[in-house]
Amino acid sequence: MIRTADLLKRPTVSLPETATIREVALELAKSRVGLAVLTAKDNPRRPVAVVSERDVLRAVADRRDLDGPAMAIANKPITVLDTDPVWVAAEKMRQHNIRHVVVVNKDGELVGVLSIRDLCFERAILLELAAAEAPTTP
Ligand code: AMP
Repeated sequence: MIRTADLLKRPTVSLPETATIREVALELAKSRVGLAVLTAKDNPRRPVAVVSERDVLRAVADRRDLDGPAMAIANKPITVLDTDPVWVAAEKMRQHNIRHVVVVNKDGELVGVLSIRDLCFERAILLELAAAEAPTTP
């Protein structure tokens, strides 16, 4: 069985929850990833929110102050466990219409971020997803 933690290859973009929208945008651009995790001020391993490139795009379109807090455009993280099979990540992306899930350990600490691209480009994963008996909603 392939687990979510097995697919984590790229370094995670994480910033403290006090970061500005501009700081998040700069990190996303520099790292060429689509989701940043905002972490607790007193604990960089505890994810408190996420900001995706779409949130930044919307902030620009809405003429928000980019030096304002990223928390204002962030969402509460949808997570999977590092021990979950990959289909759980795929199912959460489908259910919530998102392209990223935050991977945490049993203590809720940040382990990484999986993107939908990580699920699409390896034959072994596609085969596993096809075979998985994930509960589906109509
Ligand atoms: P994305 O699917 O990453 O392009 O993001 C689309 C929207 O879903 C944005 O508003 C994101 O903040 C939100 N989003 C993406 N991934 C997550 C996640 N793991 N938890 C919570 N919200 C998310």
